[in-house]
Amino acid sequence: MKFGSGHFFMTALAVLIAAAWSLLAQAAPLKVVVSIEPAHALVAGVMEGIGTPALLLKGAASPHDYALRPSDAQALANADIVFWIGAPLEGFLEKPLKVNKARQVALMDVVSVRYPAREGGVWEDDGHDHGHSETSIDPHVWLDPANARDMVDAIALALSALDAENSKRYEAKAQALRQRLTALDREIESTLTPVKRAPFIVFHDGYQYFEKRYGLNGVGAITVNPEQKPSAQRLQALRDKVRQNGVACVFAEPQYNDGLVKSIVEGTSAGYSVLDPLGSQIAPGVDAYFVMMRQLGENARRCLEKNEHS
Ligand SMILES: [Zn+2]
Repeated sequence: MKFGSGHFFMTALAVLIAAAWSLLAQAAPLKVVVSIEPAHALVAGVMEGIGTPALLLKGAASPHDYALRPSDAQALANADIVFWIGAPLEGFLEKPLKVNKARQVALMDVVSVRYPAREGGVWEDDGHDHGHSETSIDPHVWLDPANARDMVDAIALALSALDAENSKRYEAKAQALRQRLTALDREIESTLTPVKRAPFIVFHDGYQYFEKRYGLNGVGAITVNPEQKPSAQRLQALRDKVRQNGVACVFAEPQYNDGLVKSIVEGTSAGYSVLDPLGSQIAPGVDAYFVMMRQLGENARRCLEKNEHS
């Protein structure tokens, strides 16, 4: 059998087409955007070895009062999929995601542990309208590792739907993350067991999921809406509350000025420490969720243990 030059050309062309086809089939990595760092860590974990998601809120930015920058809008416009917690937390994303063609997954909608936003009793504010308003569900759902496991499942499903070729890898990563989350949950549980009874007050009412998961004794929040400063009357009421409840610790947050918290504990026997529900001082990446949650547990324990009035 003799190969003519025409035949050779056709064969070469076929090889080229096959090569181009396999390049096309090996689709470009998904462009994934995530709103806050704890959720970003979980998405990064599911995508590990396949791609890297972009993070919108960095450092000490608060999702309650964030304003979208032009570069964020650009990232959202180019995204194949956006993961966020939901409109009650990230109001700034509601409009852009409606306009945007990208798929979006509101993670507060996929979790199995959900609590109504707290009102009344010691959680009452000074009577003004407050945040987290549009729905009655408390949006800080990621602070329960059981919910993080649900989020990981939903993330793997959503990514697989867009990138079926890698679905087995997403599922394997999700499985490994679920195991890590279960171990983390047990670890935090044992960290906090000795201080379960110690009463404390937090800066803003964002810890309901953490408190309930570990049976902690949170007795109030300084302000229900982090965008709103409490009045002088409210401050006095908080100092009274610290004394009446034998509050061991008042916790500030890196997202907000801690002068307020310090002025509340002044002249009381309560201790002062910082809780960071967003990982703002932790490098973004797969481990960020685990480091953040572990620090929450350890910081709470350290302060409560030291200042608990027995
Ligand atoms: Zn919050």
